[in-house]
This record gives sequence, C-alpha cells and structure tokens, in this order.
Amino acid sequence: MEYSLTSEQEELKDAVIKFAQAELNDDMVERDRAGTFSHEGWKKCAEFGIHGMPISEEFGGGGLDLTTTIAVMEGLGYGCKDQGLIFSINAHMWTNSIPLQIFGTPEQKAKYLPGLCNGDLIGANGASEPESGSDVFGMATTAIKDGDDYILNGTKTFCTNAQVADLVMTYATLNPEYGLMGITAFLIEKDMPGFSISKKIEKMGLRTSPMAELIFEDCRVPAANVLGRAGRGAEVFNCSMEWERSCILASCLGTMQRQLEQCIRYAQTRKQYGKAIGKFQSVANRIVDMKVRIETARPLIYKIGWLKDQGKSADMEAALGKLYTSEAFVKNCLDAVQIHGGYGYMTEFEFERELRDSVGSTLYSGTTEIQRNIIARRLGL
Ligand SMILES: Cc1cc2nc3c(=O)[nH]c(=O)nc-3n(C[C@H](O)[C@H](O)[C@H](O)COP(=O)(O)OP(=O)(O)OC[C@H]3O[C@@H](n4cnc5c(N)ncnc54)[C@H](O)[C@@H]3O)c2cc1C
Repeated sequence: MEYSLTSEQEELKDAVIKFAQAELNDDMVERDRAGTFSHEGWKKCAEFGIHGMPISEEFGGGGLDLTTTIAVMEGLGYGCKDQGLIFSINAHMWTNSIPLQIFGTPEQKAKYLPGLCNGDLIGANGASEPESGSDVFGMATTAIKDGDDYILNGTKTFCTNAQVADLVMTYATLNPEYGLMGITAFLIEKDMPGFSISKKIEKMGLRTSPMAELIFEDCRVPAANVLGRAGRGAEVFNCSMEWERSCILASCLGTMQRQLEQCIRYAQTRKQYGKAIGKFQSVANRIVDMKVRIETARPLIYKIGWLKDQGKSADMEAALGKLYTSEAFVKNCLDAVQIHGGYGYMTEFEFERELRDSVGSTLYSGTTEIQRNIIARRLGL
C-alpha cells in the first residue's frame, strides 16, 4: 500500500499552504471573538479551486481524486488558522456538493454544482433535530405529498452555514411509521416559502463558522427538489456522512503538524533553570506524543483516500480515522497549551482558540461514541 504523494500532489499542497498563509489569516483573534464568517476567504478558497476539488470538471469542479483532495485539505489546515472557515467549507463539500454529485439528476447537478464549486452558492446540511441527534433517523420533520410538491414541517438544529447558505440539504420523513424507508432528502433553496433561519447559535469554538436552526413551516418544496428517490434519503444521508467522516479531519493533520513545529521551536528557545525547556524529559515526551499521534492519524486518513480512489468501501476506515484523529487533535491542542505554559493559555498565542476549535471534532459528523459503535458493529460486536 503506497501513501506517498506524487510531486504534483506535493506541489499543490505547498501552493495551498502559501495561499492560505498569505490570504486567510488576517485579524483571526478579532474575527474569532466577534464570530465573523469571512465571505472574502470563502470566495478566495473557491477561486483557488478548493470547493470544487472532488467535483467533476463537467460541473465546474476540479475532478481531483480523493488522495489529492486530502493532501490539499492537509495543506489548508497547515496554512490557514481560520478553522471555522475550513469547517464551513468541509460542511459545504461533503454534505451538500458530494451527495448532489452522487444522487442528483442531471438537471439538479447542472443547476447547483457550478455555483457550489465557484463559491457563488454556499451549501449546508440540516439533519440534526432538537430531539434527534445521534439517532438522526428518529427525526420528527415531516414531508407530506401535495400534488407535485411536498409540504415540510419541523425544525433542524446545529446547522452549520445556515445563515449564509443558499442551498440546504435536509431530510424529512414521509411518515414516521415507515421508519428508514420514509426518510427523504430535499434540496432547499433559501427563498422557498415557509423556510426560515432562527437566530445565530453561539458556540465554544469554530466561531467563524455560522450556525443556526432551520424552521420549516408549511414549506412548499417541488418534487423536483427531492434528492435521490423519495423514501431513500437514509442512503443519501449515510453516503454523505461516510464522505464527511472520511475527509473532515484531513485539515486537522496540517494543523497538528504546524502546532508540532511551533512547540518544537518554543521548547528549543524557551529557557528555564538555565536550559531549553525541551531538555526536560517531561516536556520532550509531550512533544514526542504529539508526533506519534500525527504519524498514526496521517496514514489512517490517507488510507481512506487510497481505498475510495479505488472504488472500495471505507466505511470502517472512515470511522477509525474520524475517531482517532479527532481525539488526537484535542490531545495535541492541550499539549500545545501546556508546553507554552501560561502563554499557551493566552488568546494572543492562539492555542486556546485551536483547543476550543478542536473539541467540536469529537462531536460533529457522529460523536466519538457513535464512531466506536460503528467500528464495534463492523467487528461483529
Ligand atoms: C460544531 C458542530 C457542527 C455541527 N454541524 C451540523 C450540521 O451542519 N448539520 C447537522 O445536521 N448537525 C450538525 N451538528 C450536530 C451533530 O451532528 C450532533 O451534535 C451529533 O450528531 C450529536 O447529536 P446530539 O448533539 O443531539 O447529541 P446526542 O445524540 O443527544 O448525544 C448525547 C451524548 O450521548 C451519546 N450517545 C448518543 N447515542 C449513543 C449511543 N447509541 N451509544 C453511545 N453513546 C451515545 C453521544 O455520543 C453524546 O455523548 C454539529 C455539531 C457540532 C458540535
């Protein structure tokens, strides 16, 4: 099994690092404090080709394989300190553009994918509800057929990008008694009558990524906006979650690598008791542990790319990669704070923000507990 990148992939990764360092990091502390989404950063990333990387060239995408896409996201995570922006891009790509590419009709793809790739349209995913999070298919939002339309009623919560989204992928049940076979995926345009967004949801980290509730009140949606077949939305959701789980932490590999390099530099230059703190074994061991976690997480994530690029299932690997990398990310952020002592705790040093940003990774796209359940199931338990 070969995980090394080609020279073209390395060049692309280096290019995205330079682009991100130059274009995406202005006023980060202030933007985090204010919780401001960067429309400018969004557009610049789209122009760089990030939003459309895994989408077919026919619809304005880059037509890149997943391994290259993962390499670019790793570079983005290394160069870009705006984890909220990266998170918004991830939500857009994996839970909106990708399912549209896989399940969309030619008309749906032609209508939405070019705008999703060039950054004119922002995508979101509305699956979680106040009473059904992990148990997402226990949803209460209903879709009742009315002539050529469906009438949606219900509330979705924790919707990333909600306030800025032009197109929301959402899910509703045709009848709760149908169970999984009632779940249906819908493409919701922001101006559809009966669709609205609640006030902003404030959160601990990823504060530059907007979040709100979605409200459907007799929202009339044309049948042409069903994605896939009516009653087959569980398939759409599971597919989009596998993609999201597979790829959403690729950028964290880059962030962890940058933090490691920062910690090494600090441990080499910060002196206490007349010597560099890196000479104290307990500080050095912490940095070694950070390195071990990165070297364990990276092959897990690239293996997913390798499998999917060969058309193989990466169901189990996606859960392994998501589980391990998210937990490693939180631990590495904590280590980075500790290695920098009191300075690590201070906003100006930016590790406290990255720690807050990292915690969400054990929750979104299926919590750590749910990833363990998936792996246990695959192991026959
Ligand atoms: C930053 C962020 C962004 C998000 N973005 C989106 C988005 O764009 N769209 C969207 O639809 N949702 C989004 N979510 C919601 C996310 O998918 C849910 O938070 C997640 O699925 C968990 O659901 P819940 O919060 O209702 O927790 P619950 O499901 O109520 O879980 C509570 C606790 O119980 C545990 N638990 C639940 N069931 C089991 C089980 N069977 N076995 C073991 N433990 C279990 C959980 O792991 C957790 O620790 C986002 C969440 C976060 C934090």
